Amino acid sequence: MPHDHPALADGALVAASHWFVHILPFEATRYLVAALGVYFVVSIAGARLLAGRKIRTARPGRRQMAVEFLVSLRTAAVFALSGAVSMLGWEAGILKSYDDPARYGWGYFWLTVGVLVVAHDAWFYWTHRLMHDPRLFRRLHRRHHRSVNPSPFTAYSFDIGEAAIHAAFMPLMLLIAPISQLAILVFLTHMIVRNVIGHSGYELFPARRNGRPVFDFLTSVTHHDLHHAQAGWNYGLYFTWWDRLMGTEHPLYHEKFAAAVRRPLDGSAVQAMGLAPLSATKAR
Ligand SMILES: [Zn+2]
Ligand SMILES: [Zn+2]
Repeated sequence: MPHDHPALADGALVAASHWFVHILPFEATRYLVAALGVYFVVSIAGARLLAGRKIRTARPGRRQMAVEFLVSLRTAAVFALSGAVSMLGWEAGILKSYDDPARYGWGYFWLTVGVLVVAHDAWFYWTHRLMHDPRLFRRLHRRHHRSVNPSPFTAYSFDIGEAAIHAAFMPLMLLIAPISQLAILVFLTHMIVRNVIGHSGYELFPARRNGRPVFDFLTSVTHHDLHHAQAGWNYGLYFTWWDRLMGTEHPLYHEKFAAAVRRPLDGSAVQAMGLAPLSATKAR
């Protein structure tokens, strides 16, 4: 397309390519370390120790995990592209970020980390619900749900459009407020760790004696596992509050959680209604 400032446009392209090449290894490594780490620690080394926390009997197949792995690397490339464009926005003074994490004080630093996590949870919940609209699902969210029985490698297994929606969050936040690069790194690390754990297939969150989650405001592994088993419920990423507020939490979530941690839930609907625990449900 013709433009008035070819040198400027070419310069932007060169700069974006430069940033892309530098950010891609970081994005890919972030995924690889978290997914491979959780896979080897939980599914391989800890498999016997955690046998009593396996959510379903069936294991995800190797072919499924290989596809998820490759698709996730494509997502890392989309994230790196978004990172490269963000760096251009930062250099142009449009996006606000800074080097020294103590520049506005450590109170502000941790506040931005907290705000990022809470805001990302809201962004994820609402964009996720939107992607479940039948008109958008096929184009944006089908790939992620091909993993009916998820594995740690499912974490970034997204269609390109979905990856772009997730990637848009950070630049949007940097339009609003200055956030230090270290705060972004802490946020991104938390994001990938929670994401990978949520797809691990083992309930790793602590449970009370009565079968309820200790941290009931957090989405457990069972919470997101149920979303893959039976889409239409449990859209939340980190917290359960949006699902509870909007009435989209799976009605049998607490029963399924209790079944996953092998504890009887008081007044259990599983026993009362004679429903099978999730471990007995067959993966498609
Ligand atoms: Zn979904
Ligand atoms: Zn998922």
